[in-house]
Amino acid sequence: MKLTRIAPAASIAALVLLLVAVLAVALAGRSVPRVFMVASASPYASEAGAEILRAGGSAVDAAIAVQAVLSLVEPESSGLAGGAFMLHYARRSRTLDAWDGRETAPMKATPELFLGPDGKPMDFLPAMVSGRSVGTPGVVKMMWDAHREHGVLDWAQLFEPAIRLAEDGFAVPPKLAQAIARDPVLKQMPVAQDYFYRLAEDGTRRPLGEGETLKNPAYAATLKIIAEKGWRGFYEGEVAEAIVDAVQNAPSRPGTLSLEDFAAYEAVKREPVCAPYREYRICSMPPPTSGGLTLLQILGILENYDLAGMGPMTVTSVHFIAEAEKLAYADRDFYIGDPDFVDVPMGAMLDRTYLKARANTIDASRTMGKAAPGRFSSDDARWGAAVSPERASTTHFSIVDANGNVVSMTSSVEGPFGAHLMAGGMILNNQLTDFSFAPEQDGRAVANAVAAGKRPRSSMTPVIAFDADGNFRMAIGSPGGPRIIGYVAQALIASIDWEMDIEMAVALPRFLDRNGTLEIEQGTTIEELIPVLAELGHTVELRALPSGLHGIAATPQGLDGAADPRRDGNVVSGDL
Ligand code: GLU
Repeated sequence: MKLTRIAPAASIAALVLLLVAVLAVALAGRSVPRVFMVASASPYASEAGAEILRAGGSAVDAAIAVQAVLSLVEPESSGLAGGAFMLHYARRSRTLDAWDGRETAPMKATPELFLGPDGKPMDFLPAMVSGRSVGTPGVVKMMWDAHREHGVLDWAQLFEPAIRLAEDGFAVPPKLAQAIARDPVLKQMPVAQDYFYRLAEDGTRRPLGEGETLKNPAYAATLKIIAEKGWRGFYEGEVAEAIVDAVQNAPSRPGTLSLEDFAAYEAVKREPVCAPYREYRICSMPPPTSGGLTLLQILGILENYDLAGMGPMTVTSVHFIAEAEKLAYADRDFYIGDPDFVDVPMGAMLDRTYLKARANTIDASRTMGKAAPGRFSSDDARWGAAVSPERASTTHFSIVDANGNVVSMTSSVEGPFGAHLMAGGMILNNQLTDFSFAPEQDGRAVANAVAAGKRPRSSMTPVIAFDADGNFRMAIGSPGGPRIIGYVAQALIASIDWEMDIEMAVALPRFLDRNGTLEIEQGTTIEELIPVLAELGHTVELRALPSGLHGIAATPQGLDGAADPRRDGNVVSGDL
C-alpha cells in the first residue's frame, strides 16, 4: 500500500526529469548547429550538393547531385560516361569504404589496342580521339551502389538540380571556355562541334565564350531516364545504345565497346589503403589506382625525416620531398596495375622497414637522378615499366554532411573532353589510354597492359585523414593525371608538417618530381629556389601545374574548406 501511495509521486518526478532531459537535448541540438560543407570545382556543383544537404540528404546523396552537375558544367573533366573513385566515411559506424567505379576495357580489347600497324605505341592524340579509348563507364553504377548503402533521399531527387540546369542553361565557366578554345580537334567532331561551337553567319564555327548560356536538352533527357530507371537507365536501353553506337561508329578508329560490356559492368567495393603519417592516419584508394599506394609510399619515406624542422618550401624540404617522390613513382611505374589481373605487392610496398631503407638512399647534398624501383621478390624482374602518357583533366570534390559523414571523390573522363565523342549529352571517356600502350617493355610484361575486362591504372588519389583518436580530420584530392599524387602529398605535408590551414595548403606553389625532372610551378615564389636546386643536381623544369585540390578539414573552430585558386571552384557550407 505504501508503495502505491509513493508510486504516483515517483512517476511524476520521473516524468518531470524526463521532460527536462528531452528539453535539454532539444536545446543542445539547436544551440549546436550541424554544419555541412561542399568543396568542388564548380559553384553550380557545390550549390547542387548544398541543396541536397539542406534537404537532409547524406554526403553520398550530395555527391550524386554534384557529379550530375559537373558532368554538365565541367564536361571536359568528368561525367556520367566516365569513371571515379569514392572514399566514404560513415561517422556513426566509423567505417570507411573505398568504391571503385573505374572503367573497364571491353571484352574484345587486346593488349595491342594502342599499337600502330608498325607494332609501335601510337601517338597519344590519335589514341585518345577514337572509339578505341572508351572504357565501360563506371560512375553511375558506383553511385547507385553507394546510394543503396548510404543514400537518404530518393535517387530521382538527386538529379533535379542537374536537370534544371541542363534545361534552363548555365553560364559557360572560364575553364570550359578555355578548354574549348584550346582543343585541337573538338571542332571537327560530330555532335561536339554543334554543342561547343556556334555557327557564325559566314559558316565558320566559333568556340563558345565564357559566360555564354549553354543548354543541354540531350543530357536532361538522359538524366530523366537515369532518375526514373536507376542504374538500368544508363546500362540498358537507349542511353547505353547511344554510347555504343558513338563508339562503334566513331569517325576514326572505332572501338568494340558493346551492350554486353555494359551488362557485365560492376563497381567494386575495395579495402581502403591506410598508413600512419606522424600523428595521423591517411587513407586512400587501393589499386587499380596507383594514387593511394604511391602517396603512402612518399609519406612513409618522408616520415623518416623532420620536414617541420626543414621548414616550409625551403630548398632542403623541396629536395627531400622530390627525392621521396622519385622513389615512389619508380615503384609505381613497375608494380601497379588492376589487382584483379596482376599481383600488386601492396604489403611489401608499404612495409615500414622497406620505406626506411628507401629513405636512407636519399642524399641531402645531391639528387639521386633517376630512381630504380625496389625489388620485393625474385619474381619482380618480370615487370617492365608502363608506357602511359596520361593527360590532365579530371575533378575532385569533398563533402561533409550534417551528420559528419564524409565523401572524398575523384572523377574523370581522362583527358580534356575524353575521347571527344558525345552521346546522350555526355562526353565519353578515353580512360583506356591510361593503360600502358606497350604490352611489353624490354621483353618483359607490363603490369598495366591492356586486357579484356581489366581496369586501367589510375593516379586518382582521394584521401580521408583521421587523427590519433580515429576522428575525421581532412578530405582532399585533386585532378592532374600522374601529378595528382604529388599535389595531394604536398597539400598533406603542408597541413600536417607545416601546420598550414587548408586554404594555404591548397594555394601553395606546386612542385613535384615524377622520377624525371623537378617540375616547378611557373610564376610563383618557388622559382627563387631554382639556382640552389640546380646546384643539388636537379634538372628543373618550369611549367604550369594546375592542381585542382578541393578539401575540407575539421579544425577546433569547425569545418574549414578550400577550393584551388587555379580552377573555378568554391566552397559552400550551411547548417541544419
Ligand atoms: N586518367 C587519369 C587517372 O585516372 C586522370 C587524368 C587527370 O587527372 O586528368 O589517373
